[in-house]
Amino acid sequence: MKNYGSPAFNAVRGEGVYLYDENDTRFLDFGSGIAVTSVGHSHPKWVKAVQEQAATLTHCSNLYGIPGQQKLADRLVEQAGPGRVLFCNSGAEANEALIKLARLHGQQLSGGKEAKRFTVVAAENAFHGRTFGGMGATPQEKIQGGFRPMLEGFKFGQLNNIESFDQLVDDSVAAVFIESIQGEGGIFPADESFLQELRALCTERGALLMLDEVQCGIGRSGHFFAFEKSGVKPDAIGMAKGLGGGFPIGAIWVSEPYADLFQPSSHGTTFGGSPLACAAANATLDIIEADNLIDEVATNSSIWHEGLQDLIKKYPQHIAGMRGAGYMVGLPLHTDALAVTAAARAKNMLIVPAGKNTIRLLPPLTATLKELAESVRILDEVFAELGKN
Ligand code: PLP
Repeated sequence: MKNYGSPAFNAVRGEGVYLYDENDTRFLDFGSGIAVTSVGHSHPKWVKAVQEQAATLTHCSNLYGIPGQQKLADRLVEQAGPGRVLFCNSGAEANEALIKLARLHGQQLSGGKEAKRFTVVAAENAFHGRTFGGMGATPQEKIQGGFRPMLEGFKFGQLNNIESFDQLVDDSVAAVFIESIQGEGGIFPADESFLQELRALCTERGALLMLDEVQCGIGRSGHFFAFEKSGVKPDAIGMAKGLGGGFPIGAIWVSEPYADLFQPSSHGTTFGGSPLACAAANATLDIIEADNLIDEVATNSSIWHEGLQDLIKKYPQHIAGMRGAGYMVGLPLHTDALAVTAAARAKNMLIVPAGKNTIRLLPPLTATLKELAESVRILDEVFAELGKN
């Protein structure tokens, strides 16, 4: 179908930070399949784990226990805190499960009566996926257009404006739902103080605080979860993308007091948390741990960001600033982001446009200082040539 437009090239092979086309042209991949290949393409340990699991047991359904799924759930609980984990296959599905969780929470607050308290307050400029729940929480014409009527029960505050949420979170609201760092919207991080105030507001009014870490989670920010440095403890977290290192898997973590809202038959999925998906995710986390990748991201990114800041100083006519954290960086441009993306591709570097005229840089967590420096060098050339036109 035509929804993805026409691809610029056919991708046939990947190795570490590089992606290759069918002519064996090598691209420095700073898109990582939109923040997915967190340990690079075809990491040998990841490949071995996936191959071994594929040869042992690929799928059995959630009718039976899956040891690798339990192991993965335990690891996510270790990161997020006491609670439970439910697996699915994508970010949109993780968020759909969170929206269903909010409905169950609201129903419980309403004394078991259906749908008195079901509103979810999300943020303007958010992106939460393309299911009807996800679209409902994504107030953008390009996402919702053509698909109305939307699911009811969403309101929108402004990211980093606590007063706007304060006004919206009343006794019709079951949950507040935001991305810790807005990704598709153009890389806008939630401020630490905003997250702290939002936490206090949700606690005071009995609404769940649900954080979408689908794009910014699993080490990308230089912390396992991007909200961590705020010290805030959310009630629920959505994950996907980088968790499987390239194999589809999504998950929600729900804190202890709310973890029993889902009861037998209230939610489910045939594929979610399969032995193969969990082997891929466990291998991804093994590599992240063994190679200390989250510390590496934190340390390397400060040097990389300095290089990018130098570009902003050098090309103020093209680059308007820098936003983000760790290996999740947005450069808002004065020039057309699609043209810059194409120009970078012509110089064998892959980046992803986002939001209003912003380019997104999402290297794998394995990217070395040398590879980060290569990205700065290529962008320097791209902007230097733009300057001539
Ligand atoms: N939430 C966020 C923050 C995302 O960035 C995305 C995808 O870009 C999604 C949800 C949807 O994830 P998926 O495309 O896996 O359904």
